[in-house]
Amino acid sequence: MSGFNITINGQTVQAEPGMTVLEAAKGAGFKIPTLCNHPDLPPLGACRVCLVEIEGERTLQPSCTFPVREGMVVNTHSPTVRQARRTVVELLLSDHPSECTQCARNRNCELQTLAEELGIREVRVKAPPPGHPVDDSSLAVVRDPDKCILCRRCIQTCDQIQGVSGLRIKGRGYDSIIGAPFDTPLGHALCVNCGQCINRCPTGALTEKTQIAEVWAALEDPETFTVVQTAPATRIALGEALGMPVGEIVTGKMTSALRLLGFDRVFDTDFAADLTIMEEGYELIQRIKEGGVLPQLTSCSPGWIKFIEHFYPELLPNVSSCKSPQQMFGAVAKTYFAEQAGVDPAKMKVVSIMPCVAKKFEAARPEMCDSGYQDVDYVLTTRELAQMIKEQGIDFPALPESDYDDPLGESTGAAVIFGTTGGVMEAALRTAYEVLTGEQLADVNIEAVRGMEGVREATVMVGDLPVKAAVAHGLANAAKVLDKIVAGEADYHFIEIMACPGGCLGGGGQPIPTSPAIRQQRADAIYQADVELPIRRSHENPSIKAIYEKFLGEPLSHKSHHLLHTEYTARTKATVQE
Ligand code: SF4
Ligand code: SF4
Ligand code: SF4
Repeated sequence: MSGFNITINGQTVQAEPGMTVLEAAKGAGFKIPTLCNHPDLPPLGACRVCLVEIEGERTLQPSCTFPVREGMVVNTHSPTVRQARRTVVELLLSDHPSECTQCARNRNCELQTLAEELGIREVRVKAPPPGHPVDDSSLAVVRDPDKCILCRRCIQTCDQIQGVSGLRIKGRGYDSIIGAPFDTPLGHALCVNCGQCINRCPTGALTEKTQIAEVWAALEDPETFTVVQTAPATRIALGEALGMPVGEIVTGKMTSALRLLGFDRVFDTDFAADLTIMEEGYELIQRIKEGGVLPQLTSCSPGWIKFIEHFYPELLPNVSSCKSPQQMFGAVAKTYFAEQAGVDPAKMKVVSIMPCVAKKFEAARPEMCDSGYQDVDYVLTTRELAQMIKEQGIDFPALPESDYDDPLGESTGAAVIFGTTGGVMEAALRTAYEVLTGEQLADVNIEAVRGMEGVREATVMVGDLPVKAAVAHGLANAAKVLDKIVAGEADYHFIEIMACPGGCLGGGGQPIPTSPAIRQQRADAIYQADVELPIRRSHENPSIKAIYEKFLGEPLSHKSHHLLHTEYTARTKATVQE
């Protein structure tokens, strides 16, 4: 269909059928403010901030849902529109807590920014906040309903991106509140801890459960030996949280900053990602050769693990028994590394820097103590690490670069790509190919499993064996693949599933905002980091060879099974969890 002309603020603008007024205005360079609208979600028209004047319409209309039509005349910033917009925002602020300076979203809050942009200096009608209690029952997500502006982005995210549908709106008007059904605290509700609702919340109503205070205490205790690990997707996002461009690779600055914070050893989760590939790759080979349960499903995304435990417990035998890289790291840090370094593991605290809030729940799982201690003590998100760097007064962009410590700091390009959707699959295939065929893979870039489509399928020839692979990211997409397995309509060997859109680079602990464009820039940076590393296959990592020679024996050995593998818990879909 061909486009047509409309008029916006006196200018002729080309529009396409199916566009909204908001999209047409944005394309022409007119900025209409929004609050409930989000690039990952369908338009809702709930907040009324994007109101515009349209000739022929009796009332102002929400531009995010109003379709363009040929010849229409729109004014996005007439005096009436500006006044209406100010009134909408003033009403939102009328019972909002005035505590920006103590809020986790201070200077990163869409409501605060909008109030500033609209020049609101007073709120004419002020009421006390509703006084709902803060819900900190979850290990991952904290809800502060008084800061909620009822935009419903969290409900849409949980429904449409994650397929969990764990949140509802209850009550009317002033009494409206968002939460789990039956007033269930989030920690006892049907929630997989993915934190995707946090990433799309415009205000401080949803935040991660912070462990910054506990980590400062460990760092300040001279008796405690502190070990930190950094997940693949943190190195391409931490800079973003500290004012640098999206997709800047800051690996060396991050290690320098962690040393300035006082960590005794700075290690890399990427080492454990290489270890995961050894264990998971050999597990896949064993399942294929010995007629084990197929398809094998990956296990490194804890939001995904909790999802399958709730929604498809009958498929748990398909899930790889490998712990996630975070948990493999904790188990070897408090055994192999502690032995080598002569450190008492009872005095060691392992801190993870993760793009993820579900990792906080994972670290606290009762089964995650195979080292004889809790394998990972504290989990900080990329955002929390950025906060600590600011608190310490570190000029992050100006930092010199440094390397990770040995022996848990050496890693490969295969490990870095764990941070993006398709990366675990590609890393596993790089190793499985060479183990199964005994030959070098001619090109380690396995483009067939890359991309941002929600579900991707590929057949990769490993010698004579056509390995049928699928990749899904976002749990609503995962459910589509799982439904095919349940219906007996899938003949895959290996499926990678990541809870978060884009994989870990779009995790619930990453810098806010998120959007498809931002996630693509982060993915590009991850593939760039892979190319820049001298070794790009997990099984060629010298430190991985060493840990098998000195400590584990071989992949899937008795010791590996004890430290690096785990079991899962079948749960129910009940909205209230015991
Ligand atoms: S949510 Fe935003 S407006 Fe509300 S207190 Fe926090 S920073 Fe301020
Ligand atoms: S953390 Fe994930 S599952 Fe839980 S409420 Fe938020 S979006 Fe839903
Ligand atoms: S909790 Fe956040 S995302 Fe959800 S409705 Fe409230 S303001 Fe919007």
